[in-house]
Amino acid sequence: MGEGREKEAGGGAEPELESEATVAVEAVMSVQVVPAASAAKVPEVELKNLSPSEAEQQLGLSTAAVGAMVPPAGGGDPEAPAPAAERPPAPGPGLGPAAALSPAAGKVPQASAMKRSDPHHQHQRHRDGGEALISPDGTVTEAPRTVKKQIQFADQKQEFNKRPTKIGRRSLSRSISQSSTDSYSSAASYTDSSDDETSPRDKQQKNSKGSSDFCVKNIKQAEFGRREIEIAEQEMPALMALRKRAQGEKPLAGAKIVGCTHITAQTAVLMETLGALGAQCRWAACNIYSTLNEVAAALAESGFPVFAWKGESEDDFWWCIDRCVNVEGWQPNMILDDGGDLTHWIYKKYPNMFKKIKGIVEESVTGVHRLYQLSKAGKLCVPAMNVNDSVTKQKFDNLYCCRESILDGLKRTTDMMFGGKQVVVCGYGEVGKGCCAALKAMGSIVYVTEIDPICALQACMDGFRLVKLNEVIRQVDIVITCTGNKNVVTREHLDRMKNSCIVCNMGHSNTEIDVASLRTPELTWERVRSQVDHVIWPDGKRIVLLAEGRLLNLSCSTVPTFVLSITATTQALALIELYNAPEGRYKQDVYLLPKKMDEYVASLHLPTFDAHLTELTDEQAKYLGLNKNGPFKPNYYRY
Ligand code: NAD
Repeated sequence: MGEGREKEAGGGAEPELESEATVAVEAVMSVQVVPAASAAKVPEVELKNLSPSEAEQQLGLSTAAVGAMVPPAGGGDPEAPAPAAERPPAPGPGLGPAAALSPAAGKVPQASAMKRSDPHHQHQRHRDGGEALISPDGTVTEAPRTVKKQIQFADQKQEFNKRPTKIGRRSLSRSISQSSTDSYSSAASYTDSSDDETSPRDKQQKNSKGSSDFCVKNIKQAEFGRREIEIAEQEMPALMALRKRAQGEKPLAGAKIVGCTHITAQTAVLMETLGALGAQCRWAACNIYSTLNEVAAALAESGFPVFAWKGESEDDFWWCIDRCVNVEGWQPNMILDDGGDLTHWIYKKYPNMFKKIKGIVEESVTGVHRLYQLSKAGKLCVPAMNVNDSVTKQKFDNLYCCRESILDGLKRTTDMMFGGKQVVVCGYGEVGKGCCAALKAMGSIVYVTEIDPICALQACMDGFRLVKLNEVIRQVDIVITCTGNKNVVTREHLDRMKNSCIVCNMGHSNTEIDVASLRTPELTWERVRSQVDHVIWPDGKRIVLLAEGRLLNLSCSTVPTFVLSITATTQALALIELYNAPEGRYKQDVYLLPKKMDEYVASLHLPTFDAHLTELTDEQAKYLGLNKNGPFKPNYYRY
């Protein structure tokens, strides 16, 4: 759910201008007709009995990856992918939207998030301290005395007031990415442990094998976390298939991977898969809120050096990253990053480590954007794989993840009914399309705003009214931003919204809604639930601000594991590819995963649906000029 999903910061990095070599390879492949199983049947092929080149033909995998999965044998692949260097410039000012994918875990919401307020009336506090009820139609009436609740609000408000400062400080001090603190307070943790105030850094903990090479909130939560991981495994078929397939082969044997991602059950499945493939891993969280403590405990219990807990401070965040890389007798040779912080830390503190590092796999738009900058400046000293712009990431995570989780996020925070509600969605990219589709299906009346005539036309042809935000701002019940841009919803818009309008963001950064403009003396803030604030105007109007303008779904709901499985598999294959690539295949540049591997990732997920993929006949393959095993589309194809 990591983060890093959008392409704003760099657009489709797919190398549309192919090198002559690549074109030549494809030309050869286009007439090559190989009898083989269809991609969908790939998982069943006995890789162990194939040489890499045979396996490549059979599976449509690039040789490096296949070589990693089958018994060692040569078979150099001439298919050296072109670097994805031609990235369009970042559209927005420094935004690195990207949400990454990251995961929030599939879990039960915290007790606080489950607290219900009166679903029919919103409480409102008058300026004089009295309280009113606002009916759904906006009528304001005196409320029965609920003084105690107000006192509670005051406490919550105090606590709330502390947070922006911390976050603000952190954002200012960040040099690489806003991602880590800008988003994601994972919705679900059985064990928030707010009762235990001791910093994990001050605790002496050991796992059952006596190791203390980890730092988590409470190792005793491991059993709980294990169950979460097992649940996630059921929805991550491709990683489980990779584990089985690798059996004794260990394509990542000798790999020492240092990772910095959201630490959730889905990440745990990825880490344990990497372990099963032969890698040693050390891991920190890429976000101070998103760690699921029990999952981190389960990983530590099973021997992974994990340094992460929910609610880290700025200092903790960097300390955890440092504990992953600054270790006696262990040096990473691969990086898996989400947001670029880990990469940045190694560049800053331990540049010599890059001598041994074979490559970086980066998931977030923010991190990817930075990698391209380093590359342009000639400072990127190892090859990097841009997972964010893989089709299997962008076209699935951004669209389907949001299509499913927008309703969840809104429902958990507000208990609202969607039917008949007027909603405006800002931005009709992948995320916007997902949100609009879900809301339309629930019977909402959906308006769209766009700056790009192509996306605007798509919105029109999908049956949405294209408007300027100003035109509908007075009448809508919900405003959702998904642009990756900044100040899309301004204070002027907020002033004009109607009473009880819900405002939220699905983009990566908390820049889309000008939340800072609401922190003025004449407005009162009330925290009414976890992640839900009422901002009240002097005349009694209130708007409902969700997650303080941060990513709604990753802050307030969970995201579907299956989608994360697709992204995680792409990450795993990118690591295998970079780790096993022969010298010279990848230079000090940023690359996209070869399309065949995207297709392979997709094929690994098809059996879940009992999907039956059609195979090209020899005649058809020849007619289309395709290899029967793919790739089935040119790099410029947009899906
Ligand atoms: P995208 O580039 O496909 O779409 C963004 C759209 O917003 C574009 O069509 C662009 O023209 C439009 N836009 C830009 N400025 C605008 C403005 N001022 N008003 C109206 N429209 C404007 O990107 P995407 O993949 O849809 O991602 C959008 C954001 O969501 C990014 O920040 C991304 O990181 C984030 N994201 C979130 C999740 C999640 O789970 N919540 C998942 C993936 C991506």
